[in-house]
Amino acid sequence: MTENAASGPAVELTINGQAVRAERHMTVVEAAWANGVPRVSGVGCLEGVCGSCRILLRRGKEVGVALACETLVEPGIEVLFLPPPAAPRHQYELTDLSDGWDIQARFQEIFPEAARCRHCHGCVRSCPKGIVVEEGVALAVAGHFREAGEAFFECVMCELCDTACPEQIAPAHVGLFCRRITAFFHLRPPNLINRLEEIRQEPPQDGKEKP
Ligand code: SF4
Ligand code: SF4
Repeated sequence: MTENAASGPAVELTINGQAVRAERHMTVVEAAWANGVPRVSGVGCLEGVCGSCRILLRRGKEVGVALACETLVEPGIEVLFLPPPAAPRHQYELTDLSDGWDIQARFQEIFPEAARCRHCHGCVRSCPKGIVVEEGVALAVAGHFREAGEAFFECVMCELCDTACPEQIAPAHVGLFCRRITAFFHLRPPNLINRLEEIRQEPPQDGKEKP
């Protein structure tokens, strides 16, 4: 750390392989701008909402991910800005789901890998918003889409959890699916759906067809 007459000690760190210096109150994004990374007007929210400024962050032997606009500079850290996420590979149209009754089967067709979660907690550890990502995926696999959607309510779609998932589950897109279909269908609770289906399949008691 070296002295800066105007703002006190400067912080020395590495951004994208370049040794840089920044004022200690700066975020990593501000440090990048101060060291020559072009500032593009109107791109990014700088408030941890748009999820665009994804970084890999090394502190000594510890490696993690974060959002650069929410991360203050620290002496000796190494920062690598990550490229934008790849285009989503799970394709579906909400209007192709004719009603709310077959969503569980369709979910398993669209996200077959979701059932292979190995509970490694990688997605939870990588989430800058403290979302219970792993639990949200498990809820979706069990057909509890409304609850899963609620678990992902604060998700900013940074997709750092997708980057961390060894099973390529794309938890962010599982959460997005759940939020979308909950809004689209105003889903009934799964216990109610299951009970109504049981009733529908029970044989008639008096020889009359059920309405
Ligand atoms: S759930 Fe995934 S995409 Fe959403 S904020 Fe957390 S890490 Fe980012
Ligand atoms: S990172 Fe993937 S495999 Fe690991 S707990 Fe999360 S969803 Fe499951």
